[in-house]
This record gives sequence, C-alpha cells and structure tokens, in this order.
Amino acid sequence: MAKIYHDADADLGVLKGKKVAVIGFGSQGKAQSMCLKDSGLNVVVGLRKGGKSWEDAKKNGMKVDEVPKAVKGADVVMVLIPDEIQGAVFEKDIKPNLKQGAALDFAHGFGITFGTIKPPKNVDVIMMAPKAPGPREREVFLEGFGVPALIAVHQDFTGNAKQVALALAKGIGATKAGVLETDFREEATSDLFGEQAVLCGGVTALIKAGFDTLVEDGYQPEIAYFECLHELKLIVDLIQSGGMMKMWTAVSNTAEFGGLSTRDRVITPDTKKAMKKMLKEIQNGKFAETWLSDAQTGMKKLDAMEKAEAESRVEVVGKEIRALFEKK
Ligand code: NDP
Ligand code: MG
Repeated sequence: MAKIYHDADADLGVLKGKKVAVIGFGSQGKAQSMCLKDSGLNVVVGLRKGGKSWEDAKKNGMKVDEVPKAVKGADVVMVLIPDEIQGAVFEKDIKPNLKQGAALDFAHGFGITFGTIKPPKNVDVIMMAPKAPGPREREVFLEGFGVPALIAVHQDFTGNAKQVALALAKGIGATKAGVLETDFREEATSDLFGEQAVLCGGVTALIKAGFDTLVEDGYQPEIAYFECLHELKLIVDLIQSGGMMKMWTAVSNTAEFGGLSTRDRVITPDTKKAMKKMLKEIQNGKFAETWLSDAQTGMKKLDAMEKAEAESRVEVVGKEIRALFEKK
C-alpha cells in the first residue's frame, strides 16, 4: 500500500517569506494560486499581457506580472499552463530567469516525461498534482477541506524538494484529504492511459456505440440518448461513492443479472489487447510525439475530430434534450 501524507507530515513554514510564482491562471493556476495566497503565501501570477487571464487575475485580487518578471527571484515556480505549450514558454520565459535552488513545480508529468521540458541541474523539480479540476479544488478548499493530490520528486538539488512539494499540497488543503507519492513517469503515463482508454476516450466510445446501435435499429434518438448517456451519471455517482457493489445493489436484479452476464461481450479480449497497445504507445512516447506534432502545426487533427464529434447525432439530440431540463 502506498504511504499517504497528511497535515502533520507537511510544514507550510518551508514556504514562509518565499516568493511563489504561479504561471497561468486557468483551471489549475487560478485555483492553486488563490488557495496558496489564502494560506498566507506570497504569490505572484505570471501571465502574458493582453491575454484574457490578466484581468481575471487582477479582479481576483492577485498580484500579476509578465512571466519573466514573475519567475525572477521566485523560490517556487509552478508551471500551470497547457502541457502542449509548456516547452516553448519554459525555454523563452522561465528557464533564463530561474534562480539556483528554486523549485520548479508541475501538476502533470507530461513535459518532464516526454522531454519537452529540460530543466537545468541546479533546481528542484517536483510535482503536486491535485486530483480534481481547478474549480472543484477551489470549492472544496473554501469549504475548509481539500482534494487529494499526488506529489513526486524528479530532481532534488536542495535536498528539500519533497518538503516543498508537501508544503504546496498543504497550501491547497490537499494534505487534509491525503497525498500520495508517485514519480513523473508513473503519473504521466497512467494519466494519459486513464483518459484515453477509460475516462474520456473509452466512455464516449461506449456511449456512441450504444446510442448508434439503438438508433440504427429504428429507436427514437431521444430515447437512445436517455438510456445510453443521460443515465450514465447516476450510475457513475453510485460507483464513485461506494464502489461497483453499491451500484449493483442499487439497480434492479434484472439490471444486475443482465449487466454482469453480458458485459464481457462488449469489452472483449480484443479491447484489452487494444488497450495494451495504447499503453505501449504512451510509454514509448509515440502518443506524445503525435499530439505535440499536431499541437505545433495548428491543431488541425484535433479541430477536425472536435468538429466531427460536435456534429454527431448523439450531440445534436443531446442539445435538444438538455434544454428540456432548463427551467423556463
Ligand atoms: P489551462 O488551459 O486552464 O491554462 C490556461 C492558462 O494558461 C491561462 O491563464 C492562459 O492565459 C495561460 N497561458 C496560455 N499560454 C500562455 C503563455 N504563452 N504565457 C503565459 N500564460 C499562458 O491549463 P490547465 O489548468 O488545464 O492545465 C495546467 C496544468 O495542470 C497542465 O499541466 C495540466 O495537465 C495540469 N492539470 C490540469 C487539471 C485540470 O483540472 N485542468 C487537473 C490536473 C492537472 P491567457 O488567458 O493569457 O491565455
Ligand atoms: Mg488525470
């Protein structure tokens, strides 16, 4: 079993009087910078002037500077901008201004694992990755608690790297919930695999296959939408709160018998084989290479796939149905 760190294992004093630069004010940057400031730390947000986050950060009472100035003299630099642009921003605005002995922090191991970030030898390189989207993280913090997080140390120049990572976790409330230690590679590859095979890719493929099967057989798309998409949340909520057994207990005996006796015909040994291949391509860097090449050439592939998804039947019907749930 992995060791779980709590409040008593972390000391915010490690960061007292230090300058913490948070680069980015998006999903993670906004939540983390505001929580750390509320925890009494000296936080400056690093952004590009003229971007839409600049005003938002100011409006939220944050100190804001352009990235090079924010990084200058900072003891901790938290890189919370999209993974696919981190390499370019790091080379141009962060690395030249990084002081010796600073801690370079990430919320995902992508850049370090796949080589878009090549940090200098004279800094700590750490990860503090909250296991929730930014807005949720902030909401739980304001309720006086925190969401769980992962920490990792990739490079320990000062000998203090892990204490800094734990302190950052404490600053966003994560040690109240619990903090697990991992390494950059394990976090990056498992995260990509999870979102591809199960969470984002797997689930949407399953919904679409089920929806299309019903519609192609002549069922009304609205009915198919309810059965294959809308009710998913109710099922997932049960599984998340109490495991699969809570869900099996809550649904009808008919649903339980049907689900358990036929599911292996949906996810077959071939699916598992495909998952293993996906995992290999994540581990050997092939996926990162494909994604970064699209990101660096205008995201044409991503745009085309996104357009096709938006125009798919389940999405078109979904818009109409969800409108029914809005109070008129
Ligand atoms: P976002 O897409 O929300 O980040 C957008 C922010 O980055 C904006 O403030 C934007 O400013 C800023 N930005 C974009 N380009 C630049 C630039 N060239 N210079 C300075 N600032 C720039 O990112 P996320 O929060 O989703 O992701 C950040 C990191 O956190 C990633 O490593 C991600 O994997 C990780 N992560 C994300 C989670 C999430 O919930 N989204 C969960 C856990 C980890 P502007 O307004 O000027 O464009
Ligand atoms: Mg993830």
